[in-house]
Amino acid sequence: DVNPSVSPHGSALGMWANKQWGDTASYVAKKKLQSWYQTSDGNWELAKILSTSGTESLISFSEGKVLKVNPDSLLAANPEILDGVDDLMQLSYLNEPSVLYNLQYRYDRDMIYSKAGPVLVAINPFKKIPLYGSDYIQAYKSKSTDSPHVYAITDTAIREMIRDEVNQSIVISGESGAGKTETAKIAMQYLAALGGGSGIEYEILKTNPILEAFGNAKTSRNNNSSRFGKLIEIHFSETGKISGAQIQTFLLEKSRVVQCTEGERSYHSFYQLCAGAPPHLREKLDLLDVHEYKYLQQSTCYTIDGVDDAEQFRVVVEALDAVHVSKENQENAFAMLAAVLWLGNVTFSIIDNENHVEPVIDEALLKVAELIGCKADDLKLALSTRKMKVNNDIIVQKQTLAQAIDTRDALAKSIYSCLFDWLVEQINKSLAVGKRRTGRSISILDIYGFESFDVNSFEQFCINYANERLQQHFNRHLFKLEQEEYIQDGIDWAKVEFEDNQDCLNLFEKKPLGLMTLLDEESTFPNGTDMTFAAKLKQHLKSNSCFRGERGKAFTVHHYAGEVMYDTSGFLEKNRDLLHLDSIQLLSSCTCELPQAFASNMLSLSEKPAPGPLHKSGGADSQKLSVITKFKGQLFQLMQRLESTTPHFIRCIKPNNSQSPGIYHQGLVLQQLRCCGVLEVVRISRSGFPTRMSHQKFARRYGFLLLEHVASQDPLSVSVAILHQFDILPEMYQIGYTKLFFRTGQIGKLEDTRNRT
Ligand code: ATP
Ligand code: MG
Repeated sequence: DVNPSVSPHGSALGMWANKQWGDTASYVAKKKLQSWYQTSDGNWELAKILSTSGTESLISFSEGKVLKVNPDSLLAANPEILDGVDDLMQLSYLNEPSVLYNLQYRYDRDMIYSKAGPVLVAINPFKKIPLYGSDYIQAYKSKSTDSPHVYAITDTAIREMIRDEVNQSIVISGESGAGKTETAKIAMQYLAALGGGSGIEYEILKTNPILEAFGNAKTSRNNNSSRFGKLIEIHFSETGKISGAQIQTFLLEKSRVVQCTEGERSYHSFYQLCAGAPPHLREKLDLLDVHEYKYLQQSTCYTIDGVDDAEQFRVVVEALDAVHVSKENQENAFAMLAAVLWLGNVTFSIIDNENHVEPVIDEALLKVAELIGCKADDLKLALSTRKMKVNNDIIVQKQTLAQAIDTRDALAKSIYSCLFDWLVEQINKSLAVGKRRTGRSISILDIYGFESFDVNSFEQFCINYANERLQQHFNRHLFKLEQEEYIQDGIDWAKVEFEDNQDCLNLFEKKPLGLMTLLDEESTFPNGTDMTFAAKLKQHLKSNSCFRGERGKAFTVHHYAGEVMYDTSGFLEKNRDLLHLDSIQLLSSCTCELPQAFASNMLSLSEKPAPGPLHKSGGADSQKLSVITKFKGQLFQLMQRLESTTPHFIRCIKPNNSQSPGIYHQGLVLQQLRCCGVLEVVRISRSGFPTRMSHQKFARRYGFLLLEHVASQDPLSVSVAILHQFDILPEMYQIGYTKLFFRTGQIGKLEDTRNRT
């Protein structure tokens, strides 16, 4: 069975490994080759088979220990000549321990980049390694090196863009802390080295510190974790120079602005402002020390080892200058940060015996009003009351403490996310190409990887959905590429159909009974709760093979990367993401420019704006698109854009959870290889002919093993003679126009003989 079918549900991957062994078990046991033995801690160790009889093999380890084991528990190891090959496709045995070992072999030698066929695998070194900079850029440009590198893949993208006149994309994925953002920056650095004139390439690089300041935060997994997805499209003129760029962002994690887990931080921008603002700004914004803001106090973590927030503030200001954000606008933006921080300090007091509250008129409330440019009384009203439309009357409802806090926090979150969007808009204005674009583009996608935590909420739901979409794109593309090579070299090839993740995507997207539609439906019901939502899912989706109802408010989805259990708590509220119209009105009445801009943006985003002039209607909440619907729309657009490009894939891997150099946790790496589909690519390859060697190379390498003289010495004749002598079964190889194509494990036999001779 050379085409093992693997269920997308994770656990079957172990089975795949065993099936693979089935191909070669008898051979390896008979020849007493090196093999992998899994120790009780889950790690794989190299062992030599001393003897095998029936269901028992005697194996020995390098340190001399000898063990009796079941031969079925062993996996074939590759001959030493294949140690550290730079493309996993060159391995004769593609089982999990062999792949893990090969990557580790390279990682230990600071070769953090490897290829898995067409995919670049990048393992985070968590230390500076001397692989970057102008000398390296030059080497890749002149093609004087071809070892796997982000530069190499970026170079390929540039060449293909020019050669084929097709837009390109570099799709970077991996879990939090795996190195996506750093990798994206390395690719941008290579592109920037192409130059552009008028300093546009410099501006493009300067977008990074800005977006990282406002969109990254310290989390338990990564000290500089991106809390948004990003696509940057870099435009080229016809002469191959950079002419401009455009950034699109996806789903910023808003909740972090108002709540933050212990050990994590809110967005860097807050700490940078407090630490780095020059005296005049500090005074103007009445900045306090970070410890005095309630939003930041929720975690006792205020600093990051090795990071100087004050210095970063200067870096960000310099970057804002570079992308032409005026000093005035910069101060306006910082005023919004200060307003958010002061909002968190607004407190409430009970005003009647029905537990209704009003904000306390104190320094915090006054500062917020001053910073956004409204009357303190208007702010007080917006935070303590809600206008409701009942029939044709507008009634004013007082709020309880919990409601008032929600309103305050929703306002803070909106101001922050509007500020983020506004900054992206400013950057885009600066990077936009003046004239109509005539050239081509390379897009770099740095988007959150698949997430599976102990408790998974709405954010993971969205992120994992995005990953299903990207995975489909990945599968489709790689599978196609692989098969195209066979066809190009003229080999006999029956197209292999690939088991895709369409079922899971259907579970999310199907109308009317899919996860998203049901979520949106429940979000619009006034009486809908997380509980009723969970119940509806169970009722309507129970027969779907990718879905499982769980006890209480939970449900499980079978993702391509494994099962994830979601807790529906907060789903409806996060999906509605309501900002009361009272708050939007407040912002639009402000005298400051930014709050006004934010308000008009929010209103234009509303699908159905409240009828009549705003100040008169003052009615129900704006009916904007739900978060998931908007996100889905963005993703569809993204996929369309990607589909019109030639994609290049980089899969980033995090080798340990402690962000430390030199530590390689096999289990952790394996789990990511499975999740991000690297093993899938390898599996696809297995169903085909993963090992390729040119006729010349093959003849040169093994020709001396021939026992009989071959009349014709041309490489192809020599190669064919070798294949015959070694009884390589016809179904195990194909002869192409330029190359020989082998199924997995075939070269191993030849290598083995070669080494004994
Ligand atoms: P998230 O999904 O949380 O945004 P990420 O995949 O974008 O994570 P990065 O922020 O790129 O992860 O990387 C995390 C850290 O790992 C970096 O801050 C840096 O310290 C280190 N790192 C990543 N790649 C490299 C590299 N090529 N060389 C040196 N250090 C690196
Ligand atoms: Mg990142």
